[in-house]
Amino acid sequence: MLDFMKKSPLAKNYEVGKHLGSGNFAEVHQCKRKADGLECAVKIIDKAKAGTLEAIQDEVAIMERIDHKNVVKLYEVFDESAKINLVMELVTGGELFDRIVARGSYTEADAAECVRQICDALAYMHANDICHRDLKPENILYASPADDAAIKLADFGLAKVVSEKAIMQTACGTPGYVAPEILQNTGFGIEVDMWSVGVILYILLCGFPPFYEEELPRLFATIMAGRYDFPSPWWDTVSADAKDLVNKLLVVDPKKRLTAEQVLKHPWIVSSAPAEAQLT
Ligand code: ADP
Ligand code: MG
Repeated sequence: MLDFMKKSPLAKNYEVGKHLGSGNFAEVHQCKRKADGLECAVKIIDKAKAGTLEAIQDEVAIMERIDHKNVVKLYEVFDESAKINLVMELVTGGELFDRIVARGSYTEADAAECVRQICDALAYMHANDICHRDLKPENILYASPADDAAIKLADFGLAKVVSEKAIMQTACGTPGYVAPEILQNTGFGIEVDMWSVGVILYILLCGFPPFYEEELPRLFATIMAGRYDFPSPWWDTVSADAKDLVNKLLVVDPKKRLTAEQVLKHPWIVSSAPAEAQLT
């Protein structure tokens, strides 16, 4: 039994506060550590909804070791009978999703900076064999309300905590970001995250998704065929380098898709979002 997984109830150590957000399997609340008043966030996962939770202890141990400036830090876990409580770093800048909606689309420099930070986090996570599997603008948060706030990937590691079946159901609920190999159901790896980065980059540059169909079967077929384009007039002013990166991410064959490391070296990222940029 790992020390890190506490069997005691969350309420013994934390005061649970206001609701911050909801996802498919969980509710996220602000909470305060009684010992020192530290403000945190707690993700309360409903075990019944999340499906089987085998090997969660191994996953939690991995997640505890994870430490990257662009990934929401997991502090500790409380395992109760019907729920799992993940106590983590509190971020206050809201979801990338809401910033896209507010702005319409991003400038190329801002989009490149956003993708650079996402790929910096992914390069680190992928090197540790951790795949996100559900990257989308709702799971990409900002550290603070500032315009130049750092990106924080949320929902990480949960990938393996939640059952494969539950992941597939989520994918089928919001399939716009899902890689073709997931839909083909032939096994998949960390490359699925890079497909999602391609979808997110596309949306950042124009404000609408690359794959869109009213009916799910048609949407699935379009994704599996990798069928998308850069419609005029929205894409007329977007640089060739930015389109080149989209084209190298939205590649149906996962082996031919760029890795996070390769994205960080892509000319568009290197010239538009120098890694030295210091963020708050
Ligand atoms: P799910 O796996 O159910 O989708 P998420 O981890 O994505 O759950 O959390 C749901 C929502 O809660 C997020 O979209 C975000 O708005 C909010 N949230 C998640 N983690 C934090 C955090 N560490 N700090 C502040 N808000 C958070
Ligand atoms: Mg989520």
